[in-house]
Amino acid sequence: MSVLRDPVAMPSRAAASGTSSDLWSRVPGPESRVPLSLYIHIPWCVKKCPYCDFNSHGLRGALPVHEYVAALLADLDGDLRDFGDAIAGREIISVFFGGGTPSLFPPDAIAEILEGAAARLAFTRGCEITLETNPGTVEHGRFDGYRQAGVNRISFGVQSFDDEKLRALGRIHSSAEAEAAVKLAQDAGFDNINLDLMYALPRQTPDQALHDIERAIALQPAHISHYQLTLEPGTPFAKRPPPLPDHDAAWDMQEACQAQLAEAGYAQYEVSAYAQAGRRCTHNLNYWTFGDYLGIGAGAHGKLTGLGTRTAEAGCRSERRSRPEGRAAGAASLPGLGRAQLHVRRRWKVKHPRAYLEGAASDARISGDAQVEHAELPFEYMLNALRLIEGVPLDEFAKRTGLPPDSIAIPLRAARERGWLQNDPKTLHATELGRRFLNDVIELFCATIPDRKNKKADENCHP
Ligand code: SF4
Repeated sequence: MSVLRDPVAMPSRAAASGTSSDLWSRVPGPESRVPLSLYIHIPWCVKKCPYCDFNSHGLRGALPVHEYVAALLADLDGDLRDFGDAIAGREIISVFFGGGTPSLFPPDAIAEILEGAAARLAFTRGCEITLETNPGTVEHGRFDGYRQAGVNRISFGVQSFDDEKLRALGRIHSSAEAEAAVKLAQDAGFDNINLDLMYALPRQTPDQALHDIERAIALQPAHISHYQLTLEPGTPFAKRPPPLPDHDAAWDMQEACQAQLAEAGYAQYEVSAYAQAGRRCTHNLNYWTFGDYLGIGAGAHGKLTGLGTRTAEAGCRSERRSRPEGRAAGAASLPGLGRAQLHVRRRWKVKHPRAYLEGAASDARISGDAQVEHAELPFEYMLNALRLIEGVPLDEFAKRTGLPPDSIAIPLRAARERGWLQNDPKTLHATELGRRFLNDVIELFCATIPDRKNKKADENCHP
């Protein structure tokens, strides 16, 4: 039974709970206008796909469902104790169960997590609640349970409708099972459904990629995410690469698929995201517009914006444990910083499920926690915002990072001179050429930051 039917009526303990560090001073302030989401990571899969570098672990033995639900809520309590004042008065606009394979968890466990979250946080009315689902893990009746639990959006990891390609990708389901699973969800009343598809698959031809799109459109999902298969370091595919289409062939495939999606009413609004009218993904849009999010679960990442003063720039007083790979130490100076500054803080949790479970009720669950240096903020912002097809107003950059627009004047000029950004002084908007070479565009904004090439758009975003 769901408690989320009128989630806005839920009491918020965040307002009353805990303390915050001195970097996380009181609301109201600009930070209170940054939207807030909740990401929940479920780190198990039936088996690991050879291309996947997400924090997912092949299941060995019984799934510790009850233990993990308790750990998630203890983790949330810990974050609310630490960040309570920075969260006070803010409502959750979206919840995303990602993984891993969240659909390995039965509906009553998902209900318990959502009830626990709603007892601790205020949710907006109509809060988008997405559950990632592997078509090989669901059977009749399960979707009714997820709906009753409060889930209102299902995201299926379909990847392809070609059985040979599914085998090459190590997927556990067939194309027929994927179609059957989508229909089961539709029969249960889900009308907000996303299908994840990949292109540039091993030995894939443009016709095969288009055929996948046709089969997806025939199911009439509200949203389609269309990702290029890439070789991620440390994966079996990276060690023994399958024969993949080259960059130009992949680009041609993407363009042909994009045209077919547009003809069927799916407008591209982000590099990999297509939606019917009014069906853009609230949760991912919050990542791409540099919104805030709490991240609970093994390996989950969170980001929060707070107010501080320049005295905090000399170092990360709130920092504990490791920095993420390649994160620069020490604050580099940027032109135009005022006295009162926004500070962006990131926290990420221990990745291994066993270690996470053991430490969930204590600080041992936290793998790292650091303030983002001001010099890194332009890169972090562009990494996400330039993925949006319509771009973002330049004003939004200032609001979300606290940095003046002239702090990025030099890389902006360079990007515009190369034809990578539109020549509009009021927006940050990649041209088609810029989207094709997005990594190069983004690198312009991290000239002072070493080793950022492998950084991805938001860490919780799932391909
Ligand atoms: S791609 Fe999805 S199903 Fe496959 S291992 Fe990664 S998270 Fe699990």
